[in-house]
Amino acid sequence: MDIHSFNKAIISRRALLHNFRLLQEKASPSAFLAMVKADAYGHGMLECSDYLFRNGCTIFGVAELGEAVSLRKNGISGKIFIMMGFDPQFAEAVVQQQITPVIYDRLSLHALSQAASKQNQKVAVHLKVDSGMNRLGIQLEQVDEFLDLIDTLPGVELEGVASHFPCADDRLSPETRKNYQRFTVFRERIANENLTYHIANSAGTLFHEETRRDMVRCGISLYGYYPDGVMMDTEAGLQPVMSFTTRVLQVKDVPQGEGISYGHTFRTLQPSRIAILPVGYEDGYSRKLSNCGEVIIRGRRAPVRGRVCMNMCMVDVTDIPGVETGDEVVILGAQGNETINADDLARQCGTISYEILCMIGNNNQREYI
Ligand SMILES: *Cc1c(COP(=O)(O)O)cnc(C)c1O
Repeated sequence: MDIHSFNKAIISRRALLHNFRLLQEKASPSAFLAMVKADAYGHGMLECSDYLFRNGCTIFGVAELGEAVSLRKNGISGKIFIMMGFDPQFAEAVVQQQITPVIYDRLSLHALSQAASKQNQKVAVHLKVDSGMNRLGIQLEQVDEFLDLIDTLPGVELEGVASHFPCADDRLSPETRKNYQRFTVFRERIANENLTYHIANSAGTLFHEETRRDMVRCGISLYGYYPDGVMMDTEAGLQPVMSFTTRVLQVKDVPQGEGISYGHTFRTLQPSRIAILPVGYEDGYSRKLSNCGEVIIRGRRAPVRGRVCMNMCMVDVTDIPGVETGDEVVILGAQGNETINADDLARQCGTISYEILCMIGNNNQREYI
């Protein structure tokens, strides 16, 4: 018998497909890359990629080579970008599995060229340029050197040029225009309009249309969230893909003045009814939600009382009649007329939806519906 956890991260294929189609259509005629790194932001890289691939998505992005190879092994025959490059000792795998690396150093170019020549193949690479993020990427004064190197190395071919926005999630920041301007300077220096130029992440795609260029790379929006944490026009807009549910383990009446959970950081102000839930920080429910998180039981919100423990937390159900062991509890998602989304949890944790989704999705059994 399959033994399930009390906790379930539920992934809606319908919502994923809705977001994919919406974004692809918005971005058209730019090509669409589905960012599936970090196990598809906690939604399951293999399951999501497979579903998207069967529904017409042909370009995928991951961080590392290992992820790309595992996509290939699972039958994804589209284009797979590795955004962080690769360890030169694995150049042969890049060539053999026909992965598209994003390149920012000479060593991996040499290694690729060698591996490609040995296998009698050609590898298409994308050059990563730094237009202001000051993370990965070559600088303007290195462009000529890299173009020359790629030109002279057998087996490697420049196919595109990539950069990344640091501030595009701020709809109003002037930084994005400046970054895009610098990207344009790179483009003029490279002077080859046959290449694929791409810089837009979800924020670029949604908030700065002029930056979509030849391809957009969408992660968070594919999973139903706006990069700045503000949900817009939810009717026609993006739909959150993940929800997270659990069950009530035990319910008890606690007298006034009792401390709850480790450190007794909460004391009951009145005789209270407390429900114990099998969800803790080990399940991606951050300890930062101690005394400030909320869950939904019987269609109503119940506040977290005391510290979130490793595997459990306590919520106050004094005002929710009839709560009993086994009741479904929604931690992320909707029940009745109430909804808690990853932006709500992120705000309470001082982080962004990205981290909440990774933490919950990658620490729980996932169920695909
Ligand atoms: C993660 C990532 C993206 C996707 O970003 P979102 O904000 O999730 O859309 C795009 N490009 C690069 C280089 C990335 O690392």
